[in-house]
Amino acid sequence: MTGRIDDLRSFMAALRQKGLLCDITAPVDPVHDLGAVLRACEQDGKAAYFHRVSGSSVPVLGSALGSHERIALAIGCSREALGDVMEAATQAPMPPKEIDGPAPCQEVVETAVDLGTLPVPTHAPKDGGPYINAGVVIARAPGGGRHNLSYVRLQVKGKDRIGVNLNTWRHLLEFFEAAEKRGENLPFCVALGVDPALMIAAAYRYDGDEYEIAGSLRGAPTAVVRAKTCDVLVPATAEIVLECEILAGEREAEGPMAEYTGHYSGVHPQPVGIVKAITHRRDPIFQTTAGASFEHLLLGTAVTREPKLKRLCRQASPRVRDAWLPPFASGFLAVVAMEEPRPGEARTVGIAALNAHVNINTVVVVDTDVDIFDPTELFWALSTRVRWERDQVVIPGTLGNELHPAADRTGVIAKTIIDATLAPELRGSYSKIVYPKVDLAALLAGQRGDGT
Ligand code: MN
Repeated sequence: MTGRIDDLRSFMAALRQKGLLCDITAPVDPVHDLGAVLRACEQDGKAAYFHRVSGSSVPVLGSALGSHERIALAIGCSREALGDVMEAATQAPMPPKEIDGPAPCQEVVETAVDLGTLPVPTHAPKDGGPYINAGVVIARAPGGGRHNLSYVRLQVKGKDRIGVNLNTWRHLLEFFEAAEKRGENLPFCVALGVDPALMIAAAYRYDGDEYEIAGSLRGAPTAVVRAKTCDVLVPATAEIVLECEILAGEREAEGPMAEYTGHYSGVHPQPVGIVKAITHRRDPIFQTTAGASFEHLLLGTAVTREPKLKRLCRQASPRVRDAWLPPFASGFLAVVAMEEPRPGEARTVGIAALNAHVNINTVVVVDTDVDIFDPTELFWALSTRVRWERDQVVIPGTLGNELHPAADRTGVIAKTIIDATLAPELRGSYSKIVYPKVDLAALLAGQRGDGT
């Protein structure tokens, strides 16, 4: 029985108890070394806690939510119920609660800012420098409106200077553009080492206040406190909070960084931020994730988008049985299983799937005899059931994501729907070969037993 999870430390205790946290006590270098060890821990199914990082007294937690199992543990549900719980959270928003008293995240307040005191890793071999990439970025809508929580890659460029990567379709970009039009900087905060419900909430694409999703996922409102230098509410139990501003009218080269597409991003002019204060717990923990890691892909492209994908596909046809966004395809591919679709229906469902998220650019619709979670079955269906001259449609000039190698800098890309279901008139002639399942181990054990 794990205790209540309401901050990073209680989550780390739960992970440790389940054997899902790898304690790394050997010293690691934050430049490339840490990222490589983190990757190895991820592949072993675990989060990593780096007790000793060269050049800093602050320990680092990585890949906290790098598996379906750890995400489910964080919000107290089963792996199977995860999609439904995450979908339900958007229907039952729970506003944050501001506290008056002293908050753990402000036990120490530093206004002489030096980002060099933090163990910010340079993760992948060709990253352009150290990146703060697992902090929850918090800003308010113009006029002091709702809060928006999201992830933004922040390149450390000096003691108090950061590159702020704002790509299209981000609420934060809308907020900044509104401020910049008035000639004003946009205040924002970065909360590092927060409770996992907040980390998950920040990954949603949601038009409301993501604090409300975190409350709903946790089943209790998020305790927040006013930042010291701006009118932004920050999570009271965060390990570290950076209080910053994005500068109006400034752009600087930013990048490259290992991105979720599995490729390095380019180097492009991006806004610049200044860190005005760092507040933290007395003995803080820094949090990070490696670019293109399981955690990056799961939180960034898969688990938060699947509920809507399923909902839209099911709205398009009652014959949809399942749908998912395989993390190995970086969120660009949606696979949908249908039970005997009627003529034209697979394509109709494909259109619905493309609307589930702007990044989805390939939809493959298969029959229910194909295991959509098994890439080998998917390739078999693509290779045997598609009449390419009639079962594929390409839609040019649609909005996608500019990090995709096939998109232009504004994110415009072609999208495709592939109907890999057997044509109705062929269903009677072609049936998939399935041998009965055999318990080979038991059979072999039995052979030895009777000496044959
Ligand atoms: Mn948002």
